[in-house]
Amino acid sequence: MLYKKFEALFPTELSAIQYFIKIRYPDGIICPHCGAETKVYHSSGYPRFFNCKKCFNSFSVFSGTIMERTHSDIRNWFFDMNQMVSDKKGISAMQQQRHIG
Ligand SMILES: [Zn+2]
Repeated sequence: MLYKKFEALFPTELSAIQYFIKIRYPDGIICPHCGAETKVYHSSGYPRFFNCKKCFNSFSVFSGTIMERTHSDIRNWFFDMNQMVSDKKGISAMQQQRHIG
C-alpha cells in the first residue's frame, strides 16, 4: 500500500487508535486489571489510555501488544506492519528502518 493511500485511511493518529480499538475490542473495552467491561473512560488528553471506574487503574489500549510502550506515532507501526505482511518477499528490519528513517 502506498503511503498516500495509507495516510488517507488514517489522517490522524487518533483515527488509527480508534480503528485499533474497534478491531481489538469489538464488544466493548475491557479493563485488563479487573475485567470490568463498560465502566472505563478515556484519560483526558491521552487517547491511548483508559481509566477504569471500578478499580481506578489506567491502562493502554495497546496493553499486551508490541506497541504497548511505544512513544512513536501509532500510524508508523501500522504502516510498517502493513508493509511487512503485504510485500511478497517480506521486508527486513534494516530495510524498514531505511524506509521510515
Ligand atoms: Zn478495572
